[in-house]
Amino acid sequence: MIKIKNLHKSFGDLEVIKGIDMQVNAGEVVVVIGPSGSGKSTVLRCINRLEEPSSGVIEVDGYNIMDPGTDINYVRSEACMVFQQFNLFPHMTVLDNVTLGPVKVRKMSKAEAEDLGVQLLGKVGLEDKALMYPDQLSGGQKQRVAIARSLALRPKVILFDEPTSALDPELVGEVLEVMKGLAREGMTMIVVTHEMGFAKEVADRVIFFDKGHIVEENEPGAFFANPKNERLRDFLGKVA
Ligand code: ADP
Ligand code: MG
Repeated sequence: MIKIKNLHKSFGDLEVIKGIDMQVNAGEVVVVIGPSGSGKSTVLRCINRLEEPSSGVIEVDGYNIMDPGTDINYVRSEACMVFQQFNLFPHMTVLDNVTLGPVKVRKMSKAEAEDLGVQLLGKVGLEDKALMYPDQLSGGQKQRVAIARSLALRPKVILFDEPTSALDPELVGEVLEVMKGLAREGMTMIVVTHEMGFAKEVADRVIFFDKGHIVEENEPGAFFANPKNERLRDFLGKVA
């Protein structure tokens, strides 16, 4: 579903992604961990072209997203991002936040999009919040709206960038539960997170980033029980 070949990204003189190869198969859940500043967000942001890669190839479902003729909105609806800070539109109701994408990008009728929106809000447990505004919701509820908004685009993959890092601890679980549900349904997901419990339970594969490189990658059992790289051992010692 996603193929990344020799991805490099620099900001000015600072090279932050130094040749990354990564492949994510359809239905796979890949968890990415690593120290702050190691390039995790930058890679996700390159996948949906919130950042322009400096070089390398990125394909989403066989489609080279760096083709000059590529429609960026199409790429962003195929590879949706869920952000740490939710990024909901504050002046729009919850339902309008969810239906905007399908109407604008997928050219769905307003009525059809609203049916879908209500259904997806039900799926994330927020049917009764449809007519509220984001600032009337808790952080956990906001993030579940953001997930429903992504699902409304029927994406090929969802990119989660530390989706629970901005939440009060007691709200983390409700968001992780929704994500686990998506994983069970076979959604292809890349999840940057510090939630090691989620990684152990849900990931098909865990990848460790350090200083712009992929340093280690394995299925979660071996990854956590038998880390080979010293920097990974050190990192796990600090976060676990
Ligand atoms: P992570 O998500 O792993 O914490 P990031 O991908 O956000 O790391 O950042 C990797 C490096 O790139 C950091 O050194 C960060 O300061 C730098 N960086 C990220 N975005 C920009 C930007 N827009 N301009 C300049 N430097 C950036
Ligand atoms: Mg980040």
